[in-house]
Amino acid sequence: MENKIKSTFKRDLKEEILYLLKEHPFQELAKMADEVRERFHGNVVHLRAIIEFSNYCRCNCLFCGIRRDNKKLSRYRMTPHEIITRAEKIAKEGFKTIVLQSGEDPFWTKEKLKEIISKIKKIKVAITLSVGERSYEDYATFKDAGADRYLLKFETSDEKLFNALKPDTSLENRLRCLRWLKELGYETGSGIIVGLPAQSFESLAEDLILMKDLRLDMVGIGPFIPHPETPLKNQPAGNPYLTLKVISLTRLLLPLSNIPATTALAVISPSLRIRALRCGANVIMPDMTPSGYKRLYDIYPGKTSVKGSYNELKSLLMKINRFTL
Ligand code: SAH
Repeated sequence: MENKIKSTFKRDLKEEILYLLKEHPFQELAKMADEVRERFHGNVVHLRAIIEFSNYCRCNCLFCGIRRDNKKLSRYRMTPHEIITRAEKIAKEGFKTIVLQSGEDPFWTKEKLKEIISKIKKIKVAITLSVGERSYEDYATFKDAGADRYLLKFETSDEKLFNALKPDTSLENRLRCLRWLKELGYETGSGIIVGLPAQSFESLAEDLILMKDLRLDMVGIGPFIPHPETPLKNQPAGNPYLTLKVISLTRLLLPLSNIPATTALAVISPSLRIRALRCGANVIMPDMTPSGYKRLYDIYPGKTSVKGSYNELKSLLMKINRFTL
């Protein structure tokens, strides 16, 4: 009986989401999402500084510019010393969370990352990791060393699409990793790309339901941006307004979660980042990778032109009556 109620409820929820995605005026959704954001999060925008410490990747995701078959890209790894001193500099600037992101790079063994995490932890910042799919034991070690949060987007819940775009893994494995991360006590983030080729409204509705079912602490939603050195180079970019709609719906379904105004949105137009903050988003993740490496972390084009030091972002936010803590 309970299962029957659950599945009916789910079907109704999916219908409702589909209607909102396809038919409902964006302005109304945005207004509701903005109110929910204000009620649960006030006017605070959290700034999370990202250090992209390695662009080596064993994966060949069809959408991603740092895929292993992109032979035109120069590959880099920051040294542990570079990563730690960068983190110290960023913390001095005022950032309270450091996100360490990389391709799936086996060079970074459990021991190497553990060492870096425990050293950064000494400077009293929250640490978010985003280094892809690893073993349970690795995740446990990173947590013990001081990692607080983990970002691992499932990208799409449509299994067929997932398999076509991410040939090195499976949706099942990605979701297993997310379960482990939750079990281990990480604040867990995931999310999707909007506008992937052949992605349907149906699958976006299912993505939203999955994000709700996973009770995610953080949800990243960005538009697809075609990269010239990938098999998807001739596909159109994701629609930014649909992306904003998905962000609004995410806020309505997950009032408490942290939702970034993603860099991919800002790549399409800087004003979209502000619009995202006005329709549910409450986080900005400025790229604080040292400038020599930044342009090489080329997951999609245009990323390096999105600017923002701590002070620049603070004053930008003041203009829309939002502040950082
Ligand atoms: N290796 C890590 C980090 C991946 S890069 C991991 O697997 O989690 C971070 C995010 O960039 C990805 O999760 C994906 O959502 C996004 N991304 C990559 N290529 C993109 C593209 N062409 N357009 C939009 N987003 C993209």
